Amino acid sequence: MTYHSTLDAARALLQRVFGHDDFRGLQSQVITEVLAGRNALAVLPTGGGKSVCYQIPSLMRPGLGVVVSPLIALMTDQVAGLRQAGVSAARLDSHIGLDERADAWRRISEGTLDRLYISPEGLMQGQMLERLAAQPIALLAIDEAHCVSQWGHDFRPEYRMLGRLAEVFPTAPRLAVTATADARTRADIRTELRLEGAAEFVASFARPELQLNAERKKGRGRDRAVELVLERPNRSGVVYTGSRQGAEEIAQALIDRGVPATAYHAGLDRQVREDRLKRFLEDEDAVMVATIAFGMGVDKPDVRYVIHADSPASIDAYWQEVGRAGRDGLPAEGIALYNAADMSFAARRIDTRDLAPEVGQAQKRRLYQLYAMFEGAACRAAAVRRYFGETGVSDCGQCDVCLDPPQLDDVTEQAQKALSAIHRLGGRYGRGRVVDHLTGKTKDVSAYEAGLSTFAIGADWPAVAWRDLIEALVFEGLAQEDPNDGKPLLGLGEAEAVRSVYRGDRRVRMRASRTADTKAERVRGARAGSVEPPLAARPLFDALRAWRKAEAAAQSVPPYVIFIDRTLLDIAIRRPNDLEALRQCDGVGQGKLDRYGEAVLRIVRAA
Ligand code: ADP
Ligand code: ZN
Repeated sequence: MTYHSTLDAARALLQRVFGHDDFRGLQSQVITEVLAGRNALAVLPTGGGKSVCYQIPSLMRPGLGVVVSPLIALMTDQVAGLRQAGVSAARLDSHIGLDERADAWRRISEGTLDRLYISPEGLMQGQMLERLAAQPIALLAIDEAHCVSQWGHDFRPEYRMLGRLAEVFPTAPRLAVTATADARTRADIRTELRLEGAAEFVASFARPELQLNAERKKGRGRDRAVELVLERPNRSGVVYTGSRQGAEEIAQALIDRGVPATAYHAGLDRQVREDRLKRFLEDEDAVMVATIAFGMGVDKPDVRYVIHADSPASIDAYWQEVGRAGRDGLPAEGIALYNAADMSFAARRIDTRDLAPEVGQAQKRRLYQLYAMFEGAACRAAAVRRYFGETGVSDCGQCDVCLDPPQLDDVTEQAQKALSAIHRLGGRYGRGRVVDHLTGKTKDVSAYEAGLSTFAIGADWPAVAWRDLIEALVFEGLAQEDPNDGKPLLGLGEAEAVRSVYRGDRRVRMRASRTADTKAERVRGARAGSVEPPLAARPLFDALRAWRKAEAAAQSVPPYVIFIDRTLLDIAIRRPNDLEALRQCDGVGQGKLDRYGEAVLRIVRAA
């Protein structure tokens, strides 16, 4: 086969099995590489269609396609989705029963199974490798490949064993895929997974469907998170929190207000977690309030927003989590709430981990980069993309910074006052006391303190501004907080940096404070990640969703396994009147046409 006819054949499969017109982005290049029998590393953004990159070659090459994925228990819907599309798929992991296991093995040895999903630890069990090695293997796909890197936020030691696949399956092409990997993580993936000569495909990290927003917490982040959810009724979303208790608390507050919310964290029983996950996947307006225990491998396409009630620990983690919104390509939102206390907490967590010093330092640098992005005055999407090494990036035009560029004031002089006050007070007090000192409002002030040159030196500035400034100083590492059992004490940060502020060599800039009702907020309120069909298509879209819901319930699968919103939207707009026209709608492949074609056409005719 020539290059073109191979790719044409691949495209025909994409149309027939998955119902998509053509490959997107780097898909065709990755697929061409793998079809030529070569190894590859592909970094495509969430929703960028990574799975097509291994599904298609897997269908075209003889033998079994093996997909290695973490949290295999969460991958049931991948298998369900493939079955809907007419592909024979199974998973092998510790959760499935003996019958299902025996059945999978029977189909493997008969050569009738197309796709096998397996966890890294499941795959590396001696017997499993031996048995698979005796079968023809079409390819090995390693999903979430960034888990192999200790630099990343999702390090999983068992991923390191996957390097052995190179010896056990010398002739099968191996494809590593992930949504986030900077240059260093990519280098790690290559070394650990033995992909030395492999071609590398790195897509743009742009997610134009995501509208990003970050706001400093005013008061309790939890209350604000609840408010944000309530402003987005009847939409599916995820709220991330830093603690189990936070997850429970926010979920309860939402339930009390009639929102179908559930909490998800590692402290829950496995069965409870699975039930809640299932409910979230199946319900079109469910809200999941979760710690980072939730997420990897969750492919719900119609998540309309991700809210960080507590901020994550790096831009990598932020992007991965926000990336779970809008996988169907329809508008979605990412809203991060953050403050300096979150950052100090995350920094302390890094300190308490048993890490090599250079790894700990690298993780802290990443943490500071995240907060620099939150606090900065650059387009959020552009800042993220530059962080991942993209060049020539233009502004997104829709994040809060683009919509309402913050004004940065030079506050170096005030920073000097604050830093010397912190210094004079000798790290014995928290922020509140430092602000009182600066403004001269300290209650029952001692003669000693009142005699310090910094006492009341900032009486000309309001206390809120001083609080903001101290926050900014912490973000910049100029001040730092000692936890002191929950009553943090404020001290000076890195000595050299503080000195350069005193000298005036380093300028300190701070966002001018804003009122709550900013333009960005108003604009956001107006569109807020909604999936709005044109008015004329609304009744049909609703009818199709109602049909899908009933069909999904009857089969006990999540609705999007049947059709994603984008497909229903396309059908509602095009109003196909026969099977041939329905086939032209995005996301309608042969398998689904056979299964649902007539039912869908009946609804189109009736609406
Ligand atoms: P990822 O695993 O990279 O996050 P998926 O493989 O789950 O992404 O694909 C995300 C969505 O994009 C799915 O709904 C999928 O059907 C759709 N998709 C993938 N490839 C294409 C394509 N070539 N054209 C249109 N839609 C596509
Ligand atoms: Zn922007």
